[in-house]
Amino acid sequence: MLPLEVLQRAGAEITNYGGSGMSVMEMSHRSKVFQKIFDDTQAKFRKLLGVPEGYKVLFLQGGATMQFAMVPLNLMGKTGKADYARTGNFANNAHKEAKKYGEAVVAASSEDRKWTYIPSQDQLTLSPDASYFHYCSNNTIEGTQWQYVPETGSVPLVCDMSSDIMSRPIDVSKYGIIYAGAQKNLAPAGLTIVIIKEELAGHEMPITPAIMNYKNMIDKDSMYNTPPCWPIYILGLVCDWVESVGGLTAVEKVNIHKANMLYDVLDNSKLFTVAAEKGSRSFMNVTFRTGNDDLDAKFVAESVKQGFTNLKGHRSVGGMRASIYNAMPVEGVEKLCEFIQKFDKEN
Ligand SMILES: *Cc1c(COP(=O)(O)O)cnc(C)c1O
Repeated sequence: MLPLEVLQRAGAEITNYGGSGMSVMEMSHRSKVFQKIFDDTQAKFRKLLGVPEGYKVLFLQGGATMQFAMVPLNLMGKTGKADYARTGNFANNAHKEAKKYGEAVVAASSEDRKWTYIPSQDQLTLSPDASYFHYCSNNTIEGTQWQYVPETGSVPLVCDMSSDIMSRPIDVSKYGIIYAGAQKNLAPAGLTIVIIKEELAGHEMPITPAIMNYKNMIDKDSMYNTPPCWPIYILGLVCDWVESVGGLTAVEKVNIHKANMLYDVLDNSKLFTVAAEKGSRSFMNVTFRTGNDDLDAKFVAESVKQGFTNLKGHRSVGGMRASIYNAMPVEGVEKLCEFIQKFDKEN
């Protein structure tokens, strides 16, 4: 979801942005009017996340999936080796991609219990000579989330935050790179955000395409080629909205409240079990099931009739998944809780 206020403002400005006589969709990315949108969005985003000096924020394309290749292409050449935590579909895809560029070591895995938990700090086997340690902070499909930031000493942390960025305050200074596809919590599809500690750029492998070169994108301020102008503009509006509701501390409070409401109802039901283990449960994607495929299908079918959307779990894991990103109002979760309780009683 995007906040309704954001959609309404975009709607009001859609044919004539700020008296320019143009839609943001029609503007040259080199125009003054768009440059201001770009700069303002950068400033708002940096402020909200508390991005410190020495870090650049890049607005790129290619999705989080392009970062699966871009990270090793730019960083792995340092030692030829990197650590990966395998905790679910996207984390595993990142690991698989990195193997093409060097030694991608499995530093942790939750495969033994079907990706239902996050390994603890003691369960990480860290390589001291890794160029970086990669993990995915929220496993969107499986519904697990890291509740701590891994300690990796002098090895830079690289994190795929696609599905929980801006859902809680973070300490950016603990990271080498944070990246995220925008379409879960920030903006429409098409924008990928990279927060990078500047000193990590400039060590890319010679085969690195220019469009996938962090140093090149830093030097050109994300405009080596045309950036995704429209989603950048919407991100600016979403930042205004987050600010207006009290910033990340307030957003986190609401997110915890929403998720706990759902987990409580599920834990107290007769029919449903939560897929993720306690202590690893996501505050963004709540995954659950009845243990009976027919009953799961019935739940999803009835939910659609009641006006809920996207409660069917990802095809690779089945069951159900409620994605309750920032813009999902508390009332939406309350309605879902009522529906779950009613279904539990009647079935
Ligand atoms: C959705 C998602 C991706 C894939 O993003 P694309 O923008 O489609 O490449 C990667 N990682 C995580 C954690 C995601 O939620």
